[in-house]
Amino acid sequence: MNSSFRGDLAIDWWPQSDQGTSAALVAFSDDRQVLVGPNGPMLDASLVNQSHTVGTISGVSVHCVRWSDVPPKGYQWMPLRACILSHPDDLTFIALSAGIQRLEFIEEHRFCGRCGSANHSNPGDSGVRCSDADCALVSYPRISPSVIVLVTRGSQCLLARSPRFEPGMYSTLAGFLEAGESAEHAIRREIREEVGIEVTRPRYFATQSWPFKNSLMMGYFAEWASGDIQVDGVEIVDAQWFEADKLPGLPPASSISRALIDTWLGQRDPELLTHL
Ligand SMILES: [Zn+2]
Repeated sequence: MNSSFRGDLAIDWWPQSDQGTSAALVAFSDDRQVLVGPNGPMLDASLVNQSHTVGTISGVSVHCVRWSDVPPKGYQWMPLRACILSHPDDLTFIALSAGIQRLEFIEEHRFCGRCGSANHSNPGDSGVRCSDADCALVSYPRISPSVIVLVTRGSQCLLARSPRFEPGMYSTLAGFLEAGESAEHAIRREIREEVGIEVTRPRYFATQSWPFKNSLMMGYFAEWASGDIQVDGVEIVDAQWFEADKLPGLPPASSISRALIDTWLGQRDPELLTHL
């Protein structure tokens, strides 16, 4: 039983709260690299004087900062995606995912999008408020919903390769929602666009926060209805029906994609997903 998919676990996570019994810092470069110290990416909070509050995760107050200097001795940069995948514990995952999104939101919303006045933090929540009293527009962090779908056909499942995947790795299909779409509409459209088939019976599975970029992945199962695979050659370079006992290289256990596949295979208890 693999329980490293984060939807499985009842972890305490309170955005904006600063009530932990200990504190930690996550630091990022301008190009989304993570500062990793001798003990990993969860750094000593006293390393900087000023930082932004991310929230309290399992009793740890997490703060984030943009790090512009060269790394201190014994520290090094690591790309965010590689860092998340190589530190799959929940505290680190949430700290990095929420930390980078908090930091980028603050930096990208310094001014009001309606009147151009300076923004200030909005007391009591994660938003920023326009300093012009007549405008007072409040903006919140953007979270982009996306669907991620395991399509099945009897004993087979449909897995695909993006050009940026490691050689031999296949994954479930995914795509962002357009304004006005339901998740179910997006499932049908994305799968039709990417592999040219029609699906039916979309069934909700679980969600996962994923900071590439600001995404909330909504996992679904769906069943093949009609059509033959035709890849678009751009987002998807290959897609195939795989028998359950002859699967290719798969995504890491910490991904919702892998949780979908493992659950379909009967290797993960779906009841765990209700323990949130
Ligand atoms: Zn304004």
